Amino acid sequence: MNKKEQNQWHLDTLAIHAGQTPDPSTGAIMTPVYLTSTYVQESPGVHKGYEYSRTANPTRTALEHCLAALEHAEYGLAFASGCAAASTLMHLFESGDHIICGDDVYGGTYRLFQNVWTRHRMEYDFIDLANPAIVNNAIRSNTKAVWIETPTNPLLRLMDIGELARICHDKGLLLIVDNTFATPYLQLPLELGADIVVHSTTKYLGGHSDVVGGFVGTNRIDIFDRLKYLQNAVGAVPGPLDSFLVLRGLKTLHVRMERHCTNTLAIVDVLTNHEAVEKVYFPGLSSHPQHRLATKQMAGFGGIVTFVLRGKMAAADQFMRSIKVFACAESLGGVESLADHPAIMTHAAIPASKRAALGIDDGLIRLSVGIEHPDDLKQDVKQALDATI
Ligand SMILES: *Cc1c(COP(=O)(O)O)cnc(C)c1O
Repeated sequence: MNKKEQNQWHLDTLAIHAGQTPDPSTGAIMTPVYLTSTYVQESPGVHKGYEYSRTANPTRTALEHCLAALEHAEYGLAFASGCAAASTLMHLFESGDHIICGDDVYGGTYRLFQNVWTRHRMEYDFIDLANPAIVNNAIRSNTKAVWIETPTNPLLRLMDIGELARICHDKGLLLIVDNTFATPYLQLPLELGADIVVHSTTKYLGGHSDVVGGFVGTNRIDIFDRLKYLQNAVGAVPGPLDSFLVLRGLKTLHVRMERHCTNTLAIVDVLTNHEAVEKVYFPGLSSHPQHRLATKQMAGFGGIVTFVLRGKMAAADQFMRSIKVFACAESLGGVESLADHPAIMTHAAIPASKRAALGIDDGLIRLSVGIEHPDDLKQDVKQALDATI
């Protein structure tokens, strides 16, 4: 199909078809997994667009076009992981450059910036950007970009992408949005004004907890050209089988996200009505401080809910040992339901005092609600909550 036709399609159709055409030599409807490192050239320099698979591979090309279409990006590049995508993005900058970053970004992003890139004299400020105007106070003469995640992990705080984009563009800064939690099904950062959208495709986009991957999308040809060069030069590319797995996962993104969202609403109902629960963090609740922004910026409230147990550490431990359908595991966004105790698991590397300052209570539990039957999930959460009292 041509790009013009494609632009008129809904996400549901793009997820299944964008970037993919039946294999011309066999008619295979699924994109083949091109397990090849090199390509025969008709004569030196005369080839079909593929020379070496670090530079380009047809399975990866299909994935890049499909993800770009979903994010309303003109250009897309796939990477070996979300962290590989973030690290390659950092190569856009130079030592001495300063980046303003949200203060509760993914732990691996914080580690990459703070412990790896600062050694190359990149400078970072990690600040609460819930109030977009705060950015103005943090801008220095060497500031080049603002990096945000929305909603954040695990407290599901939101950033106003449109407002931040306006401030950034006023000051000549790039706005980079990690859209892993929301996915393009719920939120389109480039449409809201961001310059670059970045993903860990390991989560909802792949959706089946069977592959690690990353993605970057943009509408700016200058940024794309440089990133395309860096993707090849740095070499953090996904293999063809990994590319295929993400591409296959994407085909059900819309169906899975719809179910993730409705199942999560059902779980939120159990949590908000149970005496063992002290507080529930969920952008779909009218009590969420940014509920209005959520309704404006997102098409739904997502598949993650976080809550605090009154019984703190002991209750959290009991809950995690009692839960049966939910698995005690890190990560999120797969078809199966997962429960995470951030203080002990995903956020254990953050010192206790800093955890407390960020609001990561010892009784905090994060649920990645899967697409199992809602009654089974509700029953499971209820019995595990009962066990904590
Ligand atoms: C998992 C995650 C990442 C890192 O991605 P990997 O694929 O694990 O390297 C980045 N951002 C967010 C929001 C994530 O959840």
